[in-house]
Amino acid sequence: MAKKHVVVIKTSATNKERERYYRKNVDFFKLILKLKLWASRTGTLHSIKSIEIVDKTAKIETYCGKKFLIYNSKKSRAARWLRNKWCACACKDCQIPDWKLAKYTKTKMTQKWGSNL
Ligand SMILES: [Zn+2]
Repeated sequence: MAKKHVVVIKTSATNKERERYYRKNVDFFKLILKLKLWASRTGTLHSIKSIEIVDKTAKIETYCGKKFLIYNSKKSRAARWLRNKWCACACKDCQIPDWKLAKYTKTKMTQKWGSNL
């Protein structure tokens, strides 16, 4: 089942990134600013080019040229997808560098401890 516009995210053992811990209830916008990644409706990771936060919404532009408005909600679909790392593939057009994906796969969201960002 090879999809055309995505690359499969490798979670190899040779991943040299150190593990990072963020709190699960961290502010959604802060998390996005940190990760600079976005989970689309189809479960594909996109790389964020710019974020413009205005009050409770944020204008996002991805490297593949998508522009959209998001709301600051920890319970949103994208927030859950990013936290639980359900995304198994990344957008080819965004050309997300390996180190960024490695960093993401090593980032853990915990309930009890970790950075509040
Ligand atoms: Zn993309």
